[in-house]
Amino acid sequence: MVSRPADYCPHCGESLETITFDGRERSHCPVCEDVVWHNPVPCASVAVVDRSRSEPAVLCVERAVPPGIGEWTLPGGHMEVGEEPAAAAVRELEEETGVALAADTLEILDATTMPPRNGKHVTTIHYVADWADAIGKPTAGSDANTARFWSPTTFAASGETFRPIHEAWFRAAATYFD
Ligand SMILES: [Zn+2]
Repeated sequence: MVSRPADYCPHCGESLETITFDGRERSHCPVCEDVVWHNPVPCASVAVVDRSRSEPAVLCVERAVPPGIGEWTLPGGHMEVGEEPAAAAVRELEEETGVALAADTLEILDATTMPPRNGKHVTTIHYVADWADAIGKPTAGSDANTARFWSPTTFAASGETFRPIHEAWFRAAATYFD
């Protein structure tokens, strides 16, 4: 299994051929006589919502690494092997913002396949959580320039840019607990 389209077999190094199998074009190794599966990569994100404000606000991070440096997004990232999705979401949250949450406080907001980038397809489980359950003060960590709460209104007035593929979940999370 590969996360980007492969030219060579990851097992034996042979050049791959294209076959049609199960109704799709697949890469196939003529030596191993096996399909090299190209599958999406699972990711998890979490929107932490502060409901104590006049307009609920969501903890966001400004990206310090590609793709989308300088754009705002929700804390999140790749799941590790053997890791539960909610555990991945709270691990990424703590790495990027310094804020800790128990994985069992998370609720699923949505689960979607994101548009591919350089042939890599990502399927993300989007979680939402209540800031009242969290511990810590937002501090930018790895992969982030800044970590702070934005409400949809304050964000719109700021002139900042939200990472387009994540903006819908920022807005959905802001009204999730209404
Ligand atoms: Zn092979």
